[in-house]
Amino acid sequence: MSINLDSWRQLPAAQQPEWPDRGELDKVVNQLGGLPPLVFAGECDNLKADLAAVTRGEAFVLQGGDCAETFAGATADDVRDKLKTLLQMAIVLTYAAKVPVVKIGRMAGQFAKPRSKNTEVRDGVELPAYRGDMINGFDFTPESRIPDPWRLLQAYHSSAVTLNLVRAFTKGGYADLRQVHAWNRDFVSESPAGKRYEQLAREIDQALAFMRACGVEPEEFHSVEFYSSHEALILDYDRALTRIDSLSGLPYDVSAHMVWIGERTRQLDGAHVEFFSRIRNPIGVKLGPTTTAEEALALVEQLNPDNEAGRLTFITRMGAPKIREHLPSLVEKVTANGAQVAWICDPMHGNTFEAPSGHKTRRLDDVLNEVAGFFEVHRALGTHPGGIHIELTGDDVTECVGGGTEIVEDDLARRYETACDPRLNRSQSLDLAFRVAELYRS
Ligand code: PEP
Ligand code: MN
Repeated sequence: MSINLDSWRQLPAAQQPEWPDRGELDKVVNQLGGLPPLVFAGECDNLKADLAAVTRGEAFVLQGGDCAETFAGATADDVRDKLKTLLQMAIVLTYAAKVPVVKIGRMAGQFAKPRSKNTEVRDGVELPAYRGDMINGFDFTPESRIPDPWRLLQAYHSSAVTLNLVRAFTKGGYADLRQVHAWNRDFVSESPAGKRYEQLAREIDQALAFMRACGVEPEEFHSVEFYSSHEALILDYDRALTRIDSLSGLPYDVSAHMVWIGERTRQLDGAHVEFFSRIRNPIGVKLGPTTTAEEALALVEQLNPDNEAGRLTFITRMGAPKIREHLPSLVEKVTANGAQVAWICDPMHGNTFEAPSGHKTRRLDDVLNEVAGFFEVHRALGTHPGGIHIELTGDDVTECVGGGTEIVEDDLARRYETACDPRLNRSQSLDLAFRVAELYRS
């Protein structure tokens, strides 16, 4: 049976760049088509199996990374620090949730951004919006904002470099559980909010000491499974990296283990849903506060007609004031329908606001409140709060306000480095992990 991987081309595709020269795009796409896969189909299937466990309530997802990765950010230090933060969060969550934590980076491919406006105005000058390093440049000049298809190729190479580092760090001893826990102990002793986390950190100490005393030394203590993901926004890129798996004969988008559809491109009759319906990776769809249960069920029907657990994850991003009102009927109706989906909470995108200084920011308290609401809703319905999806970095940036080492609005200008949305910094991310752990105890 041949599978049509180009059926999406007949449908409206939102948020695609206007390439100045289609001929150049064709050359790039041709080259991408001949390059090696970044991930293997079998790895995507492993993640699908892990996400099936999440769907059954037997695992929890931690998905995180930059809003927009940059080519300049594909350095050993940047990647290591982001990974380190995610691994530190994962230990705390594993201990609290008492189930495996599936670790997925918004990494090695997160280079394209949907925009609410096509242009950006600064000091009376209007230029095309920045759409991610995969499309155009961040610099506010007319030249840099012209979409350049050769950037797709650069995105591939930057992804390869990042993924290579991730594989080396996670398999080469850096992810050693005891080492990662030692970093958490440092965080607890240095953070002004650390007292609050002391008890939990001590319990993890004791659990590790007990296992050591018993002579337990599993391979899992020394290396971790870590998966890559991105919003597959630019369909020409993800299509060019879709290959037929030689074992199963089925198509996989081999640019990442998991790909998701954003809130702005999830139209039922749109190109993204059509393309995603053809690939076999585990996939996600972002659901904002206007999503109706009927839309969610139609997405299930189109994207997971065989009702395979692990195939489809709904990433809800309602906003703290709305989640308790909007999420229950979605979860209730999807569950009543018998649909096998994993539910993940993105507590970032519904909680963005502009500070008086003009910086886009988020309050850690709002982020925590949305996660708390997510847990409350799922608990009340008897369904599984399957994970969290976070924008974060391993650096001490000042982009979100709040946290144990408190950032206030006046601090924002000090280290505001994001290429798109505001990210939790290292200590805010760890605060979040400890606070989510507390939700398991309440
Ligand atoms: C994002 O994840 O950066 C994003 C744009 O999210 P959403 O599609 O939910 O708005
Ligand atoms: Mn974002």
